Parts: sequence; C-alpha cells; structure tokens
Amino acid sequence: MSKTYDFLVAGGSIAGLAFASEASKRGASVLVAEEHDEIGEPEKCDGLVSLRGLTKYGYPPGPEVIQNRISSAVIHSPSDRHFAVNASALDVVVLDRSAFDKQVAAAAVSNGAEVRTGCRVGPMSQRNDGVEARVGDLDVRARYLVDATGPASSPRRGILPAAKYELEGEWVREHVVEVYLDAAKYPGFFAWVIPFGRHRAKVGAAGYGVSPFRALDDFLRGKNCRVLRKVSAPIYVGGPSPRFVEPGRIFVGESAGQVKPTTAGGIMTSIAGAVIAAKWAARSVQDGDPALLAGYRKEWGAVFLKEMKTMLRLRGVFEKLSNKDLEAVFSAMGTPKLVLKLSQTDFDFHGSALLGALGMPGLLRVARVVASAEVRSLLMEG
Ligand SMILES: Cc1cc2nc3c(=O)[nH]c(=O)nc-3n(C[C@H](O)[C@H](O)[C@H](O)COP(=O)(O)OP(=O)(O)OC[C@H]3O[C@@H](n4cnc5c(N)ncnc54)[C@H](O)[C@@H]3O)c2cc1C
Repeated sequence: MSKTYDFLVAGGSIAGLAFASEASKRGASVLVAEEHDEIGEPEKCDGLVSLRGLTKYGYPPGPEVIQNRISSAVIHSPSDRHFAVNASALDVVVLDRSAFDKQVAAAAVSNGAEVRTGCRVGPMSQRNDGVEARVGDLDVRARYLVDATGPASSPRRGILPAAKYELEGEWVREHVVEVYLDAAKYPGFFAWVIPFGRHRAKVGAAGYGVSPFRALDDFLRGKNCRVLRKVSAPIYVGGPSPRFVEPGRIFVGESAGQVKPTTAGGIMTSIAGAVIAAKWAARSVQDGDPALLAGYRKEWGAVFLKEMKTMLRLRGVFEKLSNKDLEAVFSAMGTPKLVLKLSQTDFDFHGSALLGALGMPGLLRVARVVASAEVRSLLMEG
C-alpha cells in the first residue's frame, strides 16, 4: 500500500512530534513514524527544563506532567567545596518525559497529524517531486523527510557515554539539583542529581572515555539507595550541525545538533527548532517555493546561534581544566555577588548569563587560571 503526505517525520519524540503538530496546524499533511511501540518509551531523559522556554514555543507541560519544581542548584568542586544558586525565579521543573511526549503527540493528532508507532522509517530515496521511504508495511511518498531521529543522526563529534539511575534515597534533597565536577572521574562532563519527588532522584554520570555505570556506582558508594531503573544513553554536546536542510530532508532537534553544548539539555532547544522548521517548511510547501526553507536556519540562528557558540567556547575551556584548575576557578566564581547574579538569569541562555555575571573582572580571574585561546576569545567578547 502507498500513501502520500507533505511531510514524513522519522522519529516520534519531542522534535518530531512538535514539528508534526505545528506543520499540521498550518494545514500540511503529516505522518510521524516512531520505531518504538509506545510514544515516550523507553524514557531516557531526565526532564529538567525551564517552563519559560516551553511556554514561549507553545508547549507548556500540563500539571500532571510536572514531577517537581526546582528551588536551587548546588555545584560541587572535586574537593567538595560547593556553592548554591537560588533557582526559584528561573521556573525550572522536572518533567515526566514519557508523559510529556504523549502530551505533544496528542496535540499533533488533534491538529490532524497521523502518528504511527512500532514502525521504523527505512532508507529514503529521492524522486523528482519529493522523497519515498518504506514505513513498516507502507510505501510513503512525501515532499520532505523530516529527520527527527535524535542521536542516531546527530553529528558524530561530541557524543559522550552517559548512564543514569532512577532511585530512592533519604539523602536526596527534594527541590535541589546537584552537579558534581571532577575532571578525573567525569572528563568533559559531570555527575548529577535531579530530584523528581520526595527522596527520589534521577542520578547520572557522563564523561569522555568513561564507563558511565562504573562512574555512577563509584559516585553512589556509601549513599544508601534503592535503584528503581537503569538507563544507558549517549548525550550530545557538539553544537548545532551545519546541515539543517538537505535535498529532500529537513533535520530537527538532536539530529540537527539543537542541544546545549554545556549541559546536553535539548528539550527546549529541540522543540524550538522543530516549531521554527515547521513554520518555514509548511510555508515552503504551500507556496511551492523551496527557497523559503532557508528561513528555518536563519530564524533559529538569530535566536540560538550566538548562545550555542558561547556555550561551545565555555565547553572548550571546561574540557581543558584539571581538578586543580577547577578548584581555582571555583574560588574565582563562587562569590556571593556572582551567585546572586546567576539566580536572576535565564536558564536556557546560561552561557551568555554566566559571561554577563562574570563580567570582565571575573573573566580576568578565570583567565589567570586558564590561559587558553578559548578564554582569550571570551574576553574579547566580554
Ligand atoms: C540520559 C539523558 C538525560 C537527559 N536529560 C535532559 C534534561 O534533563 N533536560 C533536557 O533538556 N535534555 C535532556 N536530555 C536531552 C534530551 O533528551 C534530548 O535532547 C531530546 O530528547 C532530543 O529530542 P529529539 O526528538 O531530537 O530526539 P530523541 O528524543 O532522541 O528522539 C528520537 C526518536 O527517533 C526514533 N527513531 C530513531 N530512528 C528512527 C527511525 N529510523 N524510524 C523511526 N523512529 C526512529 C527514536 O526511537 C526516538 O524515539 C537528556 C538526554 C539523555 C540521554
């Protein structure tokens, strides 16, 4: 059997579903195909996100999807010095990602999109008037294939192995996110604790070349807990891909690298990418003008590109720090004034926020610790 749509979306997670919802709202015909049998499953993401960003792009989570609200973030140095940033003004919540994906799927369906689960999109072939691909037992023709397949298609550079446990433990602080820095244990990343209820947390670890479950077990040694679920999944920190659009194919979400290079947070940025892409793609199909698709990268870039570049530079500095450097940077940064400034910034644009909060004097203090090209370029910007 064969069917024809404006858009065939490969991948039924947030980016694919948000694209489908927006494009069908604008009158396009859309099929979303998800390889797993249930939308949102298996769940791998921790769901830490700002309500502001999701609301701005039209997908505020329903109250039943919000597991927790975050009041502060505590950052730990390798020697376990720490400072706390008050996050109550930042509107940060923890989502049940599986339930949130189902919410976005319901929006897509109510806007007219078709969502099929348990079917993988096969290789695409190009035709004069669009593309063709096998979707389960169906031959699908479409004007464009929308690649929302996540890490499967994200650029290879910048993928880190990560593992997380959902667990119960009395030591979990109900509304406090904790980040543990240690260049030896988690090179290029960190370990994290994200509470999602009383005494319940999503606890993870990631880093270049580490065995993440071993790192996680070491982190949890001596902390009494009961593991409820184990997840292993790669995270992406390599920055936006140079290819958002190719002949016959549009990339959205993680497959376009629309993920924060600092924290690997991609919920808001992927939804934003999908919403912007859908707007330009629907217009392009309606007007029969493929050139309109260029508006996608232009608009996304105008909002996010500078911030992503700043985050990539901060990552470049971070990846070079030894534990001794980290301790020194910690002393330079953990001042009450800086911590106060950080509590008044934007969770989704934390790269620029951090630079702004540091200001020239703070950056110079960091530069005394790390004399790298990346810090020099940040100084030029500041
Ligand atoms: C351990 C972990 C924790 C995270 N925590 C956070 C967090 O707290 N906050 C945050 O903002 N971000 C977090 N992220 C990142 C966030 O989950 C991703 O950035 C986001 O899910 C990207 O959405 P996406 O739709 O682009 O891709 P994905 O969510 O990866 O979805 C891709 C979908 O495509 C499907 N698929 C792949 N190939 C095919 C095919 N050929 N045919 C059909 N279907 C296909 C997959 O099954 C999958 O459902 C985390 C990621 C990980 C791994």
